Amino acid sequence: MAAQIIDGKAFAATVREKVAGHVARLKEEHNITPGLAVVLVGEDPASQVYVRSKGKQTVEVGMNSYEHKLDAETSEEDLLAVVEKLNNDPEVHGILVQLPLPGHLNEDLIINSIDPAKDVDGFHISNVGLLGTGQKSMVPCTPLGCLMMLRDHHGSLSGMDAVVIGRSNIVGKPMAQLLLGDSCTVTIAHSRTKDLPDVVRRADIVVAAVGRPEMVPGDWIKEGATVIDVGINRIERDGKNKLVGDVDYASCAERAGAITPVPGGVGPMTIACLLANTVTACCRANGLAEPEGLTA
Ligand code: NDP
Repeated sequence: MAAQIIDGKAFAATVREKVAGHVARLKEEHNITPGLAVVLVGEDPASQVYVRSKGKQTVEVGMNSYEHKLDAETSEEDLLAVVEKLNNDPEVHGILVQLPLPGHLNEDLIINSIDPAKDVDGFHISNVGLLGTGQKSMVPCTPLGCLMMLRDHHGSLSGMDAVVIGRSNIVGKPMAQLLLGDSCTVTIAHSRTKDLPDVVRRADIVVAAVGRPEMVPGDWIKEGATVIDVGINRIERDGKNKLVGDVDYASCAERAGAITPVPGGVGPMTIACLLANTVTACCRANGLAEPEGLTA
């Protein structure tokens, strides 16, 4: 059986459309324009590409985009001052400090200096705690995107066996919390997990967030399972540069019921969810109803 392809690119376009509709209503009915501020320290090429793309998409959905580019030697004190200014700016509803930061800056300290209500990446310790205790929070964008695609495909996830491979703070752990919140039976696997193939074979839902190209082969996948591939790995094959995920797409697609491709799966959902989080933050800040279907 060939797996159904979960088209993240198309799904992200529908999320952006919903966001744009909500932004238009906020402007028309309340004279409010949501604003997203992105802070980039240094000149990491990958980060520059992400920040440009975020800025472009923010403007495309009708929101205000504020970019703060600081040089690589910026001191912690100066960066904290920028964040503080954004925390106090009523035009700014979402703040994102692009990671990774240069080595001399303490990432935890910086992230935890962001007003949790404006923490659209969902990395502030308060948001981590709120998510962990099932309370309303800002949810990290990549796992939120995965959850949206899973809900769209399955409807209810209740009672399903889910295995998340990877336990990072930005993907694996929040993903597991979200699946638990939707009443899945969740296993988190990592580099010390014993008999990973056997663990994965039990899963109705497999989320791979490992950072190892094509690590999960098809024969680990239960017939009909849904495979969400978070991995983005650049490899060279046949003399060409290629993007591949953490699962071996060809063999997994033969056994899975549904699968996300790389590229065009989880990747496009991440920025779409950042925009969704910004509009959610803006509604909460103004005591207005949150847009439906754009939060966890
Ligand atoms: P991290 O490196 O922070 O975490 C990787 C996790 O994988 C760790 O928990 C690690 O275990 C686990 N792991 C490593 N090797 C193995 C193994 N052999 N068997 C089982 N588990 C293993 O990565 P991230 O979570 O930040 O990212 C994961 C992937 O997702 C990357 O490819 C990244 O590029 C991609 N990504 C994609 C995004 C998107 O927008 N689509 C956004 C963010 C990330 P341990 O903890 O024991 O070391």
